[in-house]
Amino acid sequence: MPYLSEGDAYLFRIRSLDVHNQPLMRVENGFVRHRVASVDNTRATDLWAIEPVRGANGFYTIESLGHRSSDRRSRNMLTGSGTSTSTTGTLSLTAYNSVHNQHWRILRVRNDDSWRYYITNRANPHLVVRTGSGNNVDMSNVMVDAGWTLERYGQTSFVGGGHFGINRLHDRTVVSLGVRSSARVNFLDSTTWNDISSNVEILPFSVDARESMLSAETGEDMHIYPMHPRWPRPYRNSFPVVVEEWNFVRIPPTGFGQDVGIFMPDGTTVVDSSFLHDQDPTRDWIWGTIKLCDRSTGSVGSGINRSALFVHEVGHALKLNDIGWFRTGLYPTRHSYHWHPVSVMNVGTLGTHEYMLSAPSGYDRFNLIRHWGR
Ligand SMILES: [Zn+2]
Repeated sequence: MPYLSEGDAYLFRIRSLDVHNQPLMRVENGFVRHRVASVDNTRATDLWAIEPVRGANGFYTIESLGHRSSDRRSRNMLTGSGTSTSTTGTLSLTAYNSVHNQHWRILRVRNDDSWRYYITNRANPHLVVRTGSGNNVDMSNVMVDAGWTLERYGQTSFVGGGHFGINRLHDRTVVSLGVRSSARVNFLDSTTWNDISSNVEILPFSVDARESMLSAETGEDMHIYPMHPRWPRPYRNSFPVVVEEWNFVRIPPTGFGQDVGIFMPDGTTVVDSSFLHDQDPTRDWIWGTIKLCDRSTGSVGSGINRSALFVHEVGHALKLNDIGWFRTGLYPTRHSYHWHPVSVMNVGTLGTHEYMLSAPSGYDRFNLIRHWGR
């Protein structure tokens, strides 16, 4: 990519001599608008991810990271509509569907001391994205108000942290997830993290089924744990994670005891209230465990969607951080309480906030790719 950095998010702004009239491109109530406003640092409505289209040199997709689609999970691609004879066109956000209406050419033009970017639609190359009538951003064959500045959104806050290592196989991270039946989750739920980055693969299986199979084979009483030589063959040499139930009552309330689930890299113990802080951040971990609360009643146990919790903890195993949670200490997450893009990595109870969900959103997909590559 000659001048846009792949995997970054951008703000689009129209610069003018009037410093009070420099609108941002923003998603508002599902529409693509231009607003003279400061950057939305709560819901990511000004953030757009730009990615090259494979096999179509010079074209990019532009994806909103802040739009709340009805299913809250789909990617939300900037999509243009118009005809070859139309002088204007409209913009909308639609689910990813590799069509020419979602492909954009981004032309960079030097203007005084800065670059302006002109964005044309592959399906309607005579139309350029510009601030149109009213507050809408639309497409036109008139170039006025079409020179956008692109500002890379540099805050680390919106990218999950990476203070733990993972033992990587070559260039790939293969996580073998051994789920105990006592964990009371469907191990296949973890595969919602698959098919996002070609460098990340989750291989879930039932530990109990494996154990009983091995016992029948060998007559041994097998107790499988990470790094055991009898870890199933395709899963060996991967990054093993065991998922099990845990009674969090035993954890001191000052630590992460209130949590209903936790991912713990190897070497951490649940008897140590500061177990997340005793890790050497420069060291790669070799395996980990996900512990899910065993309570089904009370303020912690009730209302918790175990599937959502499970997928969230697998996100931690993939080095994604909590959102909307400020953690002090050695590893502050550096984002504010108010930062709530739609994400499975939000902290809270499913159903209480519109930004909570049970599977990776477009924003989560963006972060995973940012971490591990496409
Ligand atoms: Zn978390």
